[in-house]
Amino acid sequence: MDHDITRIRNIGIVAHIDAGKTTTTERILYYSGVSHRMGNVDDGNTTTDFDPDESKRGITIYSAAITCEWKNTLINIIDTPGHVDFTAEVERSLRVLDGAVVVFSAVEGVEAQSETVWRQADRYQVPRVCFINKMDRIGADFERTFDEIKQRLNGQPVAVQIPIGAGSPPTPDALSGVIDLIEMRALYFDPDTQGLDVQVKDIPESYRQQAEAWREKLLDVVAMLDDDVMEVFLEGGVLSADLLRQTLRVATLAGVVQPTFCGSSLDYIGVQPVLDAVVDFLPSPTDRPAIAGEHPNPKKAGRESRQPAADEPLAALVFKVQADQHGDMCFVRVYSGVLKRNAKPLNPRLNKRELVHQLWRIQADSRIKVDEVRAGNIVGVIGLKEAVTGDTLCDPGKPIRLEPIVFPETVIAMAVEPESSADRKKLADCLARLARQDPTFQAHTNEETGQTLISGMGELHLEVLRDRLQRDFHVDVRVHKPRVSYRETVRNAVTHESRIDRTFAGNVQQASIKLRITPLSGNALVSVKSAAKPGKIVAEIEQLALAALHDEVNAGGRLGFPLARLELSLLDAQCKQSESAEIAVLAAVAKAVPEILERAESVLLQPIMRLEVVTPEDFLGGIQADLNARRAIITKSFRRGDLTVIESEAALGQMFGYSTQVRSLSQGRASYSMQPLKYAEAPPSVLESVLG
Ligand code: GDP
Ligand code: MG
Repeated sequence: MDHDITRIRNIGIVAHIDAGKTTTTERILYYSGVSHRMGNVDDGNTTTDFDPDESKRGITIYSAAITCEWKNTLINIIDTPGHVDFTAEVERSLRVLDGAVVVFSAVEGVEAQSETVWRQADRYQVPRVCFINKMDRIGADFERTFDEIKQRLNGQPVAVQIPIGAGSPPTPDALSGVIDLIEMRALYFDPDTQGLDVQVKDIPESYRQQAEAWREKLLDVVAMLDDDVMEVFLEGGVLSADLLRQTLRVATLAGVVQPTFCGSSLDYIGVQPVLDAVVDFLPSPTDRPAIAGEHPNPKKAGRESRQPAADEPLAALVFKVQADQHGDMCFVRVYSGVLKRNAKPLNPRLNKRELVHQLWRIQADSRIKVDEVRAGNIVGVIGLKEAVTGDTLCDPGKPIRLEPIVFPETVIAMAVEPESSADRKKLADCLARLARQDPTFQAHTNEETGQTLISGMGELHLEVLRDRLQRDFHVDVRVHKPRVSYRETVRNAVTHESRIDRTFAGNVQQASIKLRITPLSGNALVSVKSAAKPGKIVAEIEQLALAALHDEVNAGGRLGFPLARLELSLLDAQCKQSESAEIAVLAAVAKAVPEILERAESVLLQPIMRLEVVTPEDFLGGIQADLNARRAIITKSFRRGDLTVIESEAALGQMFGYSTQVRSLSQGRASYSMQPLKYAEAPPSVLESVLG
């Protein structure tokens, strides 16, 4: 386990669903010698898809971190989901990985999810290499996909390989291997050993010219990257393979280029070079900037940071909580210092120390107990009782709170009831456990009605959670129809003052509260703060008023929905000294908030989804007509091979049951993906139906 930190790679393999992420991961685990049998997605026995839900649906929903070794380098693969309903899972993974392999299908090219993930990777400045997979399929086109990476993603792919052939027999010139443009040689992968044996040969004559042309492009790019290389290049000198790789590595780490590979995971072609690329081109933890956070004590608040080194104080991030036979396992990335078994690091969110009972390295088909994990590495921890995703674990003597992981707001909710009232307590416990594992899921029980609402990112998300309740926890639930989670904000900025002046049971109650409300844009939630000059309000009164404002705001707005996108500032709070001064202040707040909300005018917000439908030409008309009927706004529509891609934005309220509809409109041939995009003002018709 004690790899030098520069010999560690924390990577994600990201892809649009069905591009071949699971298959590629499976091959990687096999070649790196950890997995003793090769799994196949279509047989439902792969290693990363161990959650039964995933085998059932054939999609990877839950991240798992798996460790393997290649060329004396420890590679932690953080599995990322391919389904867009679970984008938050991808975001969460991107936070803790240092580099990514982006898998594309050479047939479908750049798809919606690749685009989303690519943009997220840009945001987190994650260096990438690309793998153009499925070169064995009919219609596979390396160059078209390569160009799409440039055009649709604004990427800077650099081909370091080209395929030898495309498609499968009996197609003439079927895919048989790949050409390595750095070493200028051909690689063939023996199908009899599941690609384990790689033969290196000369570039076939019929591919010589093409290879020369692509190598030329490669050299042009590399020469532009580095002055010294440019000099050698211009003088006609020899650019060694090592120098090419070195230059590409620096540029990849800087996010300037993405070395691009190709092959067919299914047919065992071209996977080992991707593993080489992970070692050669993707960053080690020391290639990434120091991790930033804040001192958890508000009195000492200030920026803190930790270098990726074992001799720094401990700073680690819990990025995933997964149900496990021994209780919940927390996946933790250690950014600095050393995490030891039986240690009690501080969880600054709770200001509590938590026991690290066991540390596990998770491999494809085994897990190994370890005593310590050093900076840069990833480990599974058993024993943390209260930690949730996004929590920091740190040295109690040198506390730091790493930036928490931000998850999108839930957009859909559904009422659930236990089949038998005896299960009520059990249901609550299970929901709490599920919420701990999945931060994009929430459960809330209304005290008055006793009704439990679960909320999440989309219909499929809730469906998966309901299945898990039944299958994993054996709780039978009755579910109601899912509903859109509306929000409300205000239209105008308003300043408002409210007074209380009354006598109650002989006590004088006099207080006044002055507030300002301001609508905010973007994805802001509600912020409540004091904007009074220091000393203007008595400290105790100020605290009391702020706490009461929080409570009022949390109770929702005038339309009955949670408030969002607004700022509420306390400008003044005064009261007459008396025994019931506190009561007077609370009463004034309770009066002021509804009044200011009314004056500022409520605005209903509804979730807008981003939708991409991919359909064969034959069904285009029907699909478009249906989208129009759902009042979707089509933002883009284009051809990809034989298929048409329609991108649109639609209100979630119009999209219920879409999966069934798409299936029946296209005889099951069209596919789609949908994810929350934003909240936007709802039209009057929606407001009417919601209030009516
Ligand atoms: P994921 O959704 O990205 O994890 O994709 P999977 O690895 O589950 O693959 C989706 C489907 O594509 C499965 O039926 C695979 O067998 C198939 N597949 C994966 N890689 C290839 C490939 O290189 N060539 C072909 N023809 N099929 C592939
Ligand atoms: Mg998969």
